[in-house]
Amino acid sequence: MERKKIAIEYIEISSIDELTTSDAYLVAKAREVANNAWAPYSKFLVGAAVELTNGKVITGNNQENAAYPSGLCAERVALFAANANYPNSPVKTIAVTAFNKNGQTKTPAKPCGSCRQAILESELRFEHPIRLILDGAEQIHIVEGIKNLLPLSFGKDDL
Ligand SMILES: [Zn+2]
Repeated sequence: MERKKIAIEYIEISSIDELTTSDAYLVAKAREVANNAWAPYSKFLVGAAVELTNGKVITGNNQENAAYPSGLCAERVALFAANANYPNSPVKTIAVTAFNKNGQTKTPAKPCGSCRQAILESELRFEHPIRLILDGAEQIHIVEGIKNLLPLSFGKDDL
């Protein structure tokens, strides 16, 4: 028997001002589009902005439903729209932000397990790692590749 460890890695910064101009733009778009979320049940507004390698930016927000499982997270709304409209353009970066009843969450917005799996699929599809910028009012995390959020993942090679 051998006990093994997997290390994950991310960069933490404290303000959008520390981001590059293009990353700051992406975060600003995520914050902006969160206002358009349809979240009457949770009142938890999430925005996501996806930047493709062709330079296009596609945004999405959470879309809830009275039949709860019928809704979808902001990350997948944006990612699926990007992949649907630009099927030959890899995803470069995804920015995610969230607001609760008190305003922007203090800690960085984090994708749920299903969104992590969808992000992995997009990485594998294009054989291109995806950077994640997880936005919070007091911290922003920059994650280089979904392997840092989904270790021991299940993908096409496991079928
Ligand atoms: Zn999700």
